[in-house]
Amino acid sequence: MLLGDFHTHSTLDDGKSTLEEMAAAAYALGMTHFGFSGHSFEEYGQDFCLSKKNVPVYLETARKLQAEYRGKMEIFVGLELDYFGEKPEGLDYAIGSVHGLRLEEGQCRYVDASAQDSQQTVDQYFGGDWYRYTDAYYDLVADLPRKTGCQWIGHFDLVTKFNEQVHTIDEDSPRYLRRALEALEYVVKQGVPLEINTGAVARGYRTTPYPSPILLRKLKEFGGEIILNSDCHHAPQLCFGFDQAVELARAAGFTHTNLWTRDGLRPVGWDEFRKGGT
Ligand SMILES: [Zn+2]
Ligand SMILES: [Zn+2]
Repeated sequence: MLLGDFHTHSTLDDGKSTLEEMAAAAYALGMTHFGFSGHSFEEYGQDFCLSKKNVPVYLETARKLQAEYRGKMEIFVGLELDYFGEKPEGLDYAIGSVHGLRLEEGQCRYVDASAQDSQQTVDQYFGGDWYRYTDAYYDLVADLPRKTGCQWIGHFDLVTKFNEQVHTIDEDSPRYLRRALEALEYVVKQGVPLEINTGAVARGYRTTPYPSPILLRKLKEFGGEIILNSDCHHAPQLCFGFDQAVELARAAGFTHTNLWTRDGLRPVGWDEFRKGGT
């Protein structure tokens, strides 16, 4: 059996558990492959990011744990690299993510801060039109492979984080889907997979993981690949919701997921991928 989780945070960025606690919890769950992915340092970033000072601390501690677990569990030292983030040398992988839009000099408007904050951004910069806002978001997502050189895309439709609560975006509408699908097809053409990310389900914002079932079906149709990740901020929630993620992936037609390995992505069929989490 193989099990992995590659999108995880720690107390060095905005997580609740230390790198040591995360690795121990992953090992206790029987993971064969595990990755750290702290939030990249950003010039206008807020306290959810690694500070400039903490980037080397993060990399050194993660490498030390990688050595400690060698032969027991493969640990990888990655980063969740924001579109506007700084990429240090020598990473094992980078997850490309868009968290915000730079609409004015010297600041970033985050899409995942709160529903109220998103409404303010839409009103102030997009004339109240939510679809101009989602278009601007997806334009950056489509550019992630070029900008970040990422190994896969993080939470593809993060811009819909609060939509189950506020219903300001019709996620079935052609107006929304036009740009979302353009971005999706474009990243697939570049050979970049998408993660199925259960983080917002774990934290109670959504009832289904990213990407939405409709986007997941289209991802399959376009010939895309997936990797399952929990975007874990607290060790007990590693692999959270993987059963649901597997069911949604199967329903969309996927016959396998992927693990990140020393040789890059490795396809793993559902029988081989042990369902973990809650
Ligand atoms: Zn993220
Ligand atoms: Zn994350």
